[in-house]
Amino acid sequence: MAGGIFSPLGSCSELEKANCHPLVCLLCHEPYQHPCLLDCYHNFCASCLRGRASDGRLRCPLCGHPSVVRGGTGLPPVDRLLQFLVDSSADGEEDVQCANCDRCCTKAELDTMYFCNTCGQPLCAPCREETHRARMFARHEIVSLSKRTKDIHKKCPLHEEPYIMFSTEKKSMLCINCFRDMQGESRAHCIDIETAYMQGCQRLDQAVMAVKELQTSTREAIVLLKAMIEEVRNSASEEEAAINSLFSRMQEQLSERKKTLLKAVQSQHEEKEKAFKEQLAHLASLLPTLQVHLVTCSAFLSSANKVTLSSLCPQINSEYRAEFARCLEPLLMLSPRRSIVGSAGGIGPG
Ligand SMILES: [Zn+2]
Ligand SMILES: [Zn+2]
Ligand SMILES: [Zn+2]
Ligand SMILES: [Zn+2]
Ligand SMILES: [Zn+2]
Ligand SMILES: [Zn+2]
Repeated sequence: MAGGIFSPLGSCSELEKANCHPLVCLLCHEPYQHPCLLDCYHNFCASCLRGRASDGRLRCPLCGHPSVVRGGTGLPPVDRLLQFLVDSSADGEEDVQCANCDRCCTKAELDTMYFCNTCGQPLCAPCREETHRARMFARHEIVSLSKRTKDIHKKCPLHEEPYIMFSTEKKSMLCINCFRDMQGESRAHCIDIETAYMQGCQRLDQAVMAVKELQTSTREAIVLLKAMIEEVRNSASEEEAAINSLFSRMQEQLSERKKTLLKAVQSQHEEKEKAFKEQLAHLASLLPTLQVHLVTCSAFLSSANKVTLSSLCPQINSEYRAEFARCLEPLLMLSPRRSIVGSAGGIGPG
């Protein structure tokens, strides 16, 4: 869920930059004016949020969380604490003039300036020492400038009396008259301002500790998540490299196998072709001889009569017998009786 300002990714660095000053609005990049607090605890100026609500809901421009807005303004409640901080920081940037000597003090001297709560005026250090030491100023309440309190917080607007008590029930400050007007039961919930301040400080300290813990764990979670992102990225690239190398190895092996197979086919083809060509050449060389024999035979048949043919037959017979006999000689080991066989063949029956 993301709001309108930042895209969900890459927003981290922008956020870190923008978060540099906690009193600057993320929408207009100016110090907050009437800062409003959304349900997600993000703050924006009232003018920056105006017109963004629809159907009684206002979507946070930063995180997208919807906040319920009541009333006609269409705005979430003003963050009084943040308003106070903005006002105080604006005060600090003002030039402060000593009311007594009109000396304008520089920023570096702000720490040495004082404020007389009784006169309601700032005082420089020398004037505090010299003029405000006189007896007529003896009862004046002088504090350092940074600790001055505003009149608006000091006196009850109803009774024009200084606040002295705090009601833990109503969460409001009381002057002596407010306290007198209270019912007995409500008075039990009233404490003096100093105690209320101490209690408030304690609660604030505890809250600060809790927020610090939250911040620490959030930072740790961010570091962890970044490490996990890095790890995922690394493992993805490792996996990619492994797949690539496996694929190229398979390709190499396949192409090698392809080469050897093609070579085998080629060599078999050549071998067989050569053998067939040899046979072909042999047969072709036989062809003219056969032709001659064929011609001779047909000529003989046409010219020779029955007697001639018959008289020639025994000679032909003895011819092939002798031939076979000669062939068989080495196999039958008949060499000593060669002459007998030869003569027998010569006089053999027709
Ligand atoms: Zn703004
Ligand atoms: Zn938000
Ligand atoms: Zn002065
Ligand atoms: Zn004074
Ligand atoms: Zn009062
Ligand atoms: Zn022949």
